[in-house]
Amino acid sequence: MLLELPDYDGHEAVHFFHDAATGLRYLVAIHDTTLGPAIGGCRMWPYASSTEAIRDALRLSRGMTYKAALAGVPYGGGKSVVIGDPRSDKTPELLAAIGRAVDSLGGRYTTSDDVGISAADVAVIGRQTSHACAPMMPDGRAAPATAYGTYQGIRAAAAHAFGTPALDGRSVAVQGLGAVGMQLCEYLAADGAVLRVADTDESRVAQAVQCWGARPVATDSVLESEADILSPCALGSVLDERSIPRLRCRVVAGAANNQLATPADAERLHRRGVTYAPDYAINVGGLLDLVHALRGTYDVQAVLDDCLGIFERTRWILDRAAARDLPSPVVADELARSRFRPPGR
Ligand code: NAD
Repeated sequence: MLLELPDYDGHEAVHFFHDAATGLRYLVAIHDTTLGPAIGGCRMWPYASSTEAIRDALRLSRGMTYKAALAGVPYGGGKSVVIGDPRSDKTPELLAAIGRAVDSLGGRYTTSDDVGISAADVAVIGRQTSHACAPMMPDGRAAPATAYGTYQGIRAAAAHAFGTPALDGRSVAVQGLGAVGMQLCEYLAADGAVLRVADTDESRVAQAVQCWGARPVATDSVLESEADILSPCALGSVLDERSIPRLRCRVVAGAANNQLATPADAERLHRRGVTYAPDYAINVGGLLDLVHALRGTYDVQAVLDDCLGIFERTRWILDRAAARDLPSPVVADELARSRFRPPGR
C-alpha cells in the first residue's frame, strides 16, 4: 500500500512508532542518505487519516533531500510527523517518547522544529537523544537565516529579471508577516524596496506599516498585487491554475514551502514569462542554520555568510532555465539529482 502512494519515491525507510503510555503515533520517513544522514523537522498535525500522515512524511522528506542537495550540505532528506493536535495532545511525556524513537534510529535521522513542534519542544525531545536540534539566537529568537537567504534569492531573481539585483524603488508584495516574512521586510526595506504587505493578523500588518511605511493589501488579493516582485511567505500551494493567470508581477520569490500546487504550475509560470525562484532553492537558510549548529561551532554571522551562496545558485538556476527555455524547477531538480543520484548510480 505504501509503495503505491503517489508520494513514494524510492524512499529508503519509513518507520512507525507507537507508544501506548503516551498515545504517540509517530512516523519517520527517510528519503535518501546518499549525501549524509537524514535531516528534517518534526511536524505535529491532526491528520484526518494515517494515509494523509504517511503522504505528508513522504512528500516532506523527499523535499528535504532536494533542499539539502541544492544547499550543498552533507545531509540527506528526512522528516517526521506526529498524528495529533499540538494544542491538546502535546505533553512533555509525548515529546520524550518522540526523543526515544528518534534515538532508536542511531543517528540516521536528526530532527528539528516544524509546524506544531516549537524550538522549545525540540529541547524537550533533545533530553532523550543527541539527534535533535533547533538553533536559537542567544535572546531566544529564531535566527534570521531563512529570511536572509530568501532575501538573497529575491536579489538573484531581480538580477535575472531586471538586470540588476538592486531593490531600491522596486515594489515587493509580501504575503505573510510571520517569523520569516517580517524579517524579510526588514532586509527589503533597508535596500529601499517599496513594500505591500498582507497577513491575516492585522497587528502584524500594522507593525509593517509603522516600521517601513508598507502599504497594506487585502489577504485575498495580495497574489494579484501590481508589483515587481511577489514574495509568498505564508502558505503552500498558492500558485495554481487559478492564481497564476491573475499574477501581475514579473518575479515570484518567497520563503513558503511548496508554493506550486502541482508540477504543472511550473510550466504555467514559465509560459506566462514569470521569473520563479524555486522555494526549496532559496528558503534553505533554516537548514544551513541547523547544519552549523550540528557542527558544534554555531555563529549566526557564519550562517548568514553561508546564505550568500543562495544568490549565485539561484542566478545559475534561473539563467540556465532561461537559456534552455525550461521552467526553473526542472533545472533546480536536475541540479539536486545530479548530486544525490549521479548518473550510473
Ligand atoms: P509563521 O507561522 O511564523 O508565519 C506565517 C504568517 O502567515 C503568519 O503571520 C500568519 O498570520 C500569516 N498567514 C496565514 N495565512 C495567511 C493568508 N492567507 N494570507 C496572508 N498571511 C497569512 O511561519 P514562518 O516561520 O514565518 O514561515 C513562513 C513560510 O516559510 C511557511 O510556509 C514555512 O513553511 C516556510 N519556511 C519557513 C522556514 C523557517 O525557518 N521558519 C524555513 C523554510 C520555509
